[in-house]
Amino acid sequence: MKNFEKINSCRACQSLSISRVYNFNDCPIEGDFVDVNALDKNQPLYPMSSVICEDCGFLQLEYLLSPEIIYKNYYYETAATKGLIDHFADYSKQIVNRFSLTPNNSLVIDIGSNDGGFLNSFKNQNINILGIEPSKSISEVANQRGVKTHNSYFNDDAVEYVLTNFKKASLITSNYMFANINKINDFIDNVTKILDDTGVYIIETGYHPDQMNFNMIDWFYHEHFSYFTLKVLDEIMMKSGMKIFDYDKINIRGGCIRFYCKKLINKSIKVESKVEDLIKKENIDGMHNKQTHIEYFKTILNIKNQVKNKILEYKKEGKKIVGYGASHSTTGLMYLFELTDLIDYLVDDNPAKLNKYSPGKHLSIYNSKKLDEDKPEVIILLAWLYKKPILENLKMYIENGGEILIPLPDFKIIKK
Ligand SMILES: [Zn+2]
Repeated sequence: MKNFEKINSCRACQSLSISRVYNFNDCPIEGDFVDVNALDKNQPLYPMSSVICEDCGFLQLEYLLSPEIIYKNYYYETAATKGLIDHFADYSKQIVNRFSLTPNNSLVIDIGSNDGGFLNSFKNQNINILGIEPSKSISEVANQRGVKTHNSYFNDDAVEYVLTNFKKASLITSNYMFANINKINDFIDNVTKILDDTGVYIIETGYHPDQMNFNMIDWFYHEHFSYFTLKVLDEIMMKSGMKIFDYDKINIRGGCIRFYCKKLINKSIKVESKVEDLIKKENIDGMHNKQTHIEYFKTILNIKNQVKNKILEYKKEGKKIVGYGASHSTTGLMYLFELTDLIDYLVDDNPAKLNKYSPGKHLSIYNSKKLDEDKPEVIILLAWLYKKPILENLKMYIENGGEILIPLPDFKIIKK
């Protein structure tokens, strides 16, 4: 395919009635942080816009960027923090109990298995496991730590590989990759081919209505094609002969959802009433209507104007402005709010980001210790989702007269 193309039908129901909601500013690939030796290279900006399906109400991105572009510089970051390992251990025990998985017999397949951290928690309970992971280097890391991982996109070949070498899975999981799938129906069809007829498929992904309530506009970026509601998810599943029978809301990343599906041919399927209740609520809240989303963007643009005007004011006063945070979301936010020319440099506490430069504008990224020496007058908290720990870190900075601008969920200034 070309570097990018426009879709002309809904990713979920294939309706041709898709209608533009919002046209974002052109933006580089949000996660494409570069090294010093790539500084002389211009990074292209790509279009981004959201559309809604007038038939099923699915909000999605209009442009499809080729995976070669999006994942070109995808580098490995371990997700294995102590907190996450504990979370995986608890969560996998719950699943093993709830769905009666048995040691040395049941097979768990994780699609998009990353470095195998989640599967490892099943392995520790003697459950058979298999990871499927598209990144070659990350699959190698997983295999080295003893988590059996097949390096492939989840396509027909991967299905063939599973069916040839394993029995069908009792449980399949996909964590935080579901919004990145373009051909969703094909993907779910393939899941049904490797899932046992009595098996369960569990997905964790962003839940757009909650993220929207929280003004989490920076969840929109080129990799995330889909902005799901439970109604849309359930219809996608039913198209492939599956049904959502339960869900949990998860209070991370501004609001996520974990939902549970079984094949419709499974006679034991019992749908919890809360599934229909949430779908009803989404409809009442207008989540599938274009106008709701247009109003939302008006709210966001209003916040953008407040933020940009204040930053321009600081600039006129000759103040130095530093952005706190260097991630996919902060890149998207800087381009959406038109801040790239107004920020002097970025700081971030993730060692993987140090000595890198921001996508497109190539702003330098330093450790936040630089703030102690440099004492900039203003910090804009681009990573506003992590406000609590960052503000804790910046106590002395505020005490010493520094100003912090918080852009979202609402424009706010913190100073002594
Ligand atoms: Zn549709």
